[in-house]
Amino acid sequence: MARTALGRLPTDKQTTGRTPVDDQQGLTPVFIAGFPAGPWGTNCYVVATGPGSECVVIDPGKDSAAGVDQVVREHRLKPISVLVTHGHVDHMWCVAPVAGTYDATAWIHPSDRHLLSDPMAGMSPETTQMLLGGDYSWAEPDDVRELSDLAELELAGLRFVVDHTPGHTQGSVTFRTPYAQQDVSELMFSGDLLFAGSIGRTDLPGGDHATMLRSLAGKVLPLADDIVVLPGHGEQTSIGRERATNPFLQDLTQDV
Ligand SMILES: [Zn+2]
Ligand SMILES: [Zn+2]
Repeated sequence: MARTALGRLPTDKQTTGRTPVDDQQGLTPVFIAGFPAGPWGTNCYVVATGPGSECVVIDPGKDSAAGVDQVVREHRLKPISVLVTHGHVDHMWCVAPVAGTYDATAWIHPSDRHLLSDPMAGMSPETTQMLLGGDYSWAEPDDVRELSDLAELELAGLRFVVDHTPGHTQGSVTFRTPYAQQDVSELMFSGDLLFAGSIGRTDLPGGDHATMLRSLAGKVLPLADDIVVLPGHGEQTSIGRERATNPFLQDLTQDV
């Protein structure tokens, strides 16, 4: 598994993360490492206030545990929480291994909680066939807590605002954390709600296109343009860029 740091946050500099020294506005600095993992190239993110501190792992999908371990060792981090944007295996395959290794708490929305027990229920027949053809075994994390809309989580010295954004799955959520550096007000971990130039599919079990559009209209369009979006797949983007160029958001804007 290749670990590739996002390296473009918030500028285009190639770094493996960042640890702003100046905290002039009294806001917590944010250190991020991200890498795509597994056959679906799902982005896994490790978020902390800086090296040598506690951290949060977001969406540890298939084959991500080694990458998480590498980031954690390299930056002397301690995972205390595993946040899951939704209950698809490509985002939560390694939730139990990662949570178990570091004795961390797993967080998921109650509407996708059943998928943590039975991930096959959320998958397409092709994916199920692919996994059942291999050596598939599943374990649940020991300590699971449920996310609710507009909840504010204080984890690892960082604050995360939860938005319930169903449509891709019934329990899809996004996480936003303040950033306030270099013209970026927040980071948004968008899962499979919003991608650079696209949105998540709605044809899998629990998916619904009309609900997806309502989530985009109600939870994404009101956000500030300077928010950096870190999606579940593909390159990072911003709310401003998506508002200006994403055909799905443009359709919604024109309807208003
Ligand atoms: Zn998904
Ligand atoms: Zn995905």
